[in-house]
Amino acid sequence: MQSVDSFDLNDIDTAIFDLDGTIYLGDALLPGAARLVGSLRERGVRTVFCSNNPTKSPTTYADKLTALGIGTDVDDVFTSLNSTVRWVTTTMPGATVFPIGEQPLIEALTAAGVPISDDPTRIDLVISSYDRTFDYRKLQIAFDALWFHRRARLVATNPDRFCPFPGGRGEPDAACITAAITAGTGVPCEAVFGKPERGLFDIIAQATGLVPERTLMFGDRLSTDISFARRHGMRSALVLTGETDTAMLAAAPEDIRPDVVLPRIDDLLAAHDDRRSA
Ligand SMILES: [Mg+2]
Repeated sequence: MQSVDSFDLNDIDTAIFDLDGTIYLGDALLPGAARLVGSLRERGVRTVFCSNNPTKSPTTYADKLTALGIGTDVDDVFTSLNSTVRWVTTTMPGATVFPIGEQPLIEALTAAGVPISDDPTRIDLVISSYDRTFDYRKLQIAFDALWFHRRARLVATNPDRFCPFPGGRGEPDAACITAAITAGTGVPCEAVFGKPERGLFDIIAQATGLVPERTLMFGDRLSTDISFARRHGMRSALVLTGETDTAMLAAAPEDIRPDVVLPRIDDLLAAHDDRRSA
């Protein structure tokens, strides 16, 4: 880790931002977020946004950011939906899929021409996801396809255990549903998309042409955001406005520690401005 004062923004030409807990919490912009994004853009830094949350489409995120005062093009938003669809269409082309997920996942698969079915005798792939409409019927279909008919494979859109809410609450995320399926079937989940996995990095790198060592990833979660940066050679800034507090950071293994820690996201800017004016 390095001090925020020694971090030189001139070394950065692309910034990737996590959303929940980093740019906003719930429907409220976090302090300094709009100022930081605006200032980086003024400096010519390319800004893109990245979420593991598969319950919202990139368009929904772009609209939300724009409404919050950070004007954003849909092409600059990447989610676990992008990497999930890419994996299905390249690794299992033609596969019939049973998505345990919400409408944006179903729409993303349908738009890519992926056949969807809830018939366990036809399902080749079960996709476990963050699904607030999860019920026993879906669990039974997955169980039959994976265990009884022994024909389907299992993957998950994202590895997150919960999605953080304002006030410290949260919502059970994809990991809970994946655990229910693997507990019952004994079938392992063979791939997980979203941060920190390579699939999402490759999609962003291809779209932006980013150079990893000149890219800074901002995020609030060590196991996804910071790990994503560390695994793929990017620099990383942990914000303390979401999941991680200083005690969690102190207890974290070396391979998920960030380059810099920001109590507030625009602290990075303040340090840089102070140095420039000094
Ligand atoms: Mg987050």
